[in-house]
Amino acid sequence: MAKEGHKYIFVLGGVMSGVGKGVVTSSIGLLLQQKGYPVNLVKVDPYLNVDAGTMNPTEHGETFVLRSGLETDQDMGNYERFLGRDLTNDDYMTSGMVYQSVIERERALGYGGKCVEAIPHVRDEILRRIESAASYNGSRISVIEIGGTIGDFQNALFIDAARVLKMRHPQDVLFVMVSYLPTPGTLGEMKTKPTQTAARDLNSYGVQPDFIVARSKEPVDEKRKEKLAISCTVRKEHIISAPDIDSIYEAPLNFEKDHLSDTLLEALNLPEKRKASLAAWKKFAQAAVNTRAPEVSIAIVGKYFDTGSFVLSDAYLSVIEAIKFSAAKLNRRAKITWVNSKDLEKGGTKALAALKKYQGIIVPGGFGESGIEGKIAAIKFARENKIPYFGLCYGMQLMVIEYARNVLGLKDAHTTEIQKNAESPVVDVMLEQKKHLADNKYGGTMRLGSYPAYLKKGTMARAAYKKELVEERHRHRYEINPAYVKQLEAAGLVFSGTSPDGVLMEIAELPREKHPFMLGTQFHPELRARPLDPHPLFTEFLRVASKRHKR
Ligand code: GLN
Repeated sequence: MAKEGHKYIFVLGGVMSGVGKGVVTSSIGLLLQQKGYPVNLVKVDPYLNVDAGTMNPTEHGETFVLRSGLETDQDMGNYERFLGRDLTNDDYMTSGMVYQSVIERERALGYGGKCVEAIPHVRDEILRRIESAASYNGSRISVIEIGGTIGDFQNALFIDAARVLKMRHPQDVLFVMVSYLPTPGTLGEMKTKPTQTAARDLNSYGVQPDFIVARSKEPVDEKRKEKLAISCTVRKEHIISAPDIDSIYEAPLNFEKDHLSDTLLEALNLPEKRKASLAAWKKFAQAAVNTRAPEVSIAIVGKYFDTGSFVLSDAYLSVIEAIKFSAAKLNRRAKITWVNSKDLEKGGTKALAALKKYQGIIVPGGFGESGIEGKIAAIKFARENKIPYFGLCYGMQLMVIEYARNVLGLKDAHTTEIQKNAESPVVDVMLEQKKHLADNKYGGTMRLGSYPAYLKKGTMARAAYKKELVEERHRHRYEINPAYVKQLEAAGLVFSGTSPDGVLMEIAELPREKHPFMLGTQFHPELRARPLDPHPLFTEFLRVASKRHKR
């Protein structure tokens, strides 16, 4: 059963995908929250993967890990960044999850001998999940984004579930269609027809859009708003102009120009609790696009770069955003350059020497063998040339391997992820992971989600966080092999963060006297960086990097 009086806003895509439904959803969340309403944001992904953990980032973009450990779509990261708070498992749903519950229930005789069908049983499971997300944490409004577009065959059950919810609670459910108005170069005129067609497609499900967010190159003029209003049966004030912008963080500010939060509240029959205060957000959004701020140049050495039409930045989305937030805080403008680690392998010393021009180097998370020696070479270069270095997960493991090989003298130091029978397995599979791998159980079995770490006094990590106990999100199967910790420490490496029992090494760093900033984390700090609450380690890394002389 739906929570009495709970409000639901469904965000659906018309015309085509990739025009920013996620940003619209996040912005609506932020705006209604600023008006005083507790909001939760839900992502519905129509694919059959049970979670986003098994998909290649070059196909699907980064996997965002919730505090709970659930591996989700990157949109969940945007939701958390806009809301400024953690979301839960209830806020994420794939067709795979829905079908899994239905099938498990059927196997347990949970349907009492009935023939189990997509309608009503799968649709009802979707409804159950939407309603259970609504009861989270006293949320008053749920904004639910359905991935893909209205016309996608696989979306039909989700749209039908939304229709049923509207039928049961006509006052409490709104549909926002995010559409696109193309301006063909040959015409030079913005066209509304595809949006009209999309609205009609939605009508064919028995669903009427209440709002249209009209994405386009330029703002949508009055004339076209009128045309859309008449042809799609949507009030003119409910057509929201969403022109292209430099940064997604400007979107909520833009929507407010068309009074989105006021009209949404009015349509939901909710009083305004307080004036939306977007001052802090505005300040950040302006700093994020300030082209006059002095530059800090960062190289990201990664490997998920080389696939045809794929948007490169999606694979490392949270890392890029985390850099932006800390840069904005420091009044800097981060210039990120992608360095393909495979090119470093091919290019030899000349390619490596080119890294000197950056003020900081990041090796982000990753899996598998390809490009790994290029990354290790980049880390060695950063260490020897005192270029600020920040390693994230794999980037920390490889930093430790580099140190073991070139400082400790264990020439064959390696990770057993790559070399099963490594002579010096400095990075080794975690005990509980061995069985998962032996059983081919890859989905949702890594060390996932939030774990606490204690920080050692007198270290850079402790100084940056300014506290002793931190909690960070993880996603890995391998760890620093405890058998090598003493030797590594004797050779000068400092493990400044460990699990409370002292067994797992969570942060490795070099003392400040030896290197301005050489630090790696076994966890993914980027997953917790927020626009108005940047991550202290990113901020410290960029602060030190900005001081490096630019060549
Ligand atoms: N491949 C490494 C592991 O599984 C690192 C994972 C990561 O960078 N997220 O431990």
